[in-house]
Formats: sequence, C-alpha cells, structure tokens
Amino acid sequence: MTRQTLPLDDSLYEYLLANSLREHPELAALREATRTHPRASMQIAPEQGQLMALLVKLLGARRTIEIGVFTGYSALAVALALPDDGRILACDISDEYTRVAREYWQRAGVAHKIELVLAPAAQTLAARIAAGEAGTYDFAFIDADKTGYDGYYEQCLQLLRAGGLIAIDNVLRGGAVARPADSDDTRALQALNAKLHRDERIDLALVPIADGLTLARKR
Ligand code: SAM
Ligand code: CA
Repeated sequence: MTRQTLPLDDSLYEYLLANSLREHPELAALREATRTHPRASMQIAPEQGQLMALLVKLLGARRTIEIGVFTGYSALAVALALPDDGRILACDISDEYTRVAREYWQRAGVAHKIELVLAPAAQTLAARIAAGEAGTYDFAFIDADKTGYDGYYEQCLQLLRAGGLIAIDNVLRGGAVARPADSDDTRALQALNAKLHRDERIDLALVPIADGLTLARKR
C-alpha cells in the first residue's frame, strides 16, 4: 500500500521512460536540439508532455492556449495531440527562443495549428478577452514568468469554457515552496498554490510530476 508519492531515483525514472514514453521523432529531435541550450532546464520533461497530450485528447480540446513557448516542446506535444483543425494561441516574448520552435513545428507538420504571438502574454490574453473570446478555449498551459502566473490564471479562467483545464507548471519549484520563500518567484507560487487550494471556481489536483504540475478544471 502506498500512502505517499514514490520518490524516483535515476534507475526508476529510467524505467518509467523506457516503459511508457512514446515520443514523436520531432519531439525527440527538439529535446536533443535544446539539450545544450544555456536555458535547457526551462523545457518540460518528456513524460509531462505525454501527460498533457493525453489530457488534451481526453478533453477533446480544439482551442488551446500556451503561455511560455521557449523552443516549443510543450506546444509541439499539444499540437500533435490536437485534431487537424485544432489551434494553439502561443504566447512568448522571445523571437530568439521561438525561432527554434517554429522550425520544429514546421518539421512535424503542425505549424498551421499554432498562432505564435510575440508580446507580453497578459497583453495578448487581454486582447482576446476584449475580442469576445471568453469561454471559448478548452485547455491552457501556464509556463512563463512566475510572478505573472496569478494574472495568467485569472485570464485563462475567463477564456476557458466550463469543464476546460488549466495546467500550471513548476508549482513545487524544486521543493522551495515548502520552505520560507527565498525569492519573489517562490513567494508568487506559494501564494498561488494557497489561493487555488481554496478556489471554489475549480476542481483541483497538484500532480508531483517533473517540477509539479497543477491541474485546475473550471467548474
Ligand atoms: N513551455 C516551454 C517548453 O516546454 O520548452 C518552456 C517555457 S520557459 C520556462 C518560459 C518562457 O516564457 C520563455 O520562453 C520566456 O521567453 C517566456 N516569457 C517570459 N516572460 C513572458 C511574458 N511576460 N509573456 C510571455 N512569455 C514570457
Ligand atoms: Ca516550466
């Protein structure tokens, strides 16, 4: 009987990947291409991409949002799980990072599903709300500047339909959230985790995969 999440040592993690990972060749190639990038640790873990793809399929999602693209791994995982007429509104501020993303989205044949907007995400989301798109999205993934998370969460809640899902990355922040805050980023995540715990607008699970992934289903 397991009462607590099993810690994963290297050999158990290798086992998990060897016995469950089904990574599209272009996802694997993008992971390899990002491996030597100075900010490579910003990329999500492959088993997390696979979980998100499964959730997108379970939701029957067609309209999705991504906040924080970097070299495009999480967006590619979601895009591959969407139907051909599915769409991602992808938000980032870096032309340099997302140039790599665009290349791999093309190579995987899903570029037509992804609208990349290079501007602060809060601005992009506010414009979509103002354009009357509230309640029209099925899924959102939040993985950009941590102090912006609470604002993105509120904007995504507006943009999602009832039953839609928001996934929020790095909510355990390497374990730092359980200790006295050492930075504004940690403080922001602690406050958001506490807020979501008592937020009656959502159903909630904090999944201890990778750096912690909160799943919030809009009621
Ligand atoms: N999800 C990505 C992946 O799977 O590889 C990793 C995203 S990385 C952790 C965070 C990204 O957020 C960076 O590419 C950064 O340029 C972007 N970012 C930072 N501040 C932002 C803002 N205000 N609006 C939009 N994107 C922002
Ligand atoms: Ca992340």
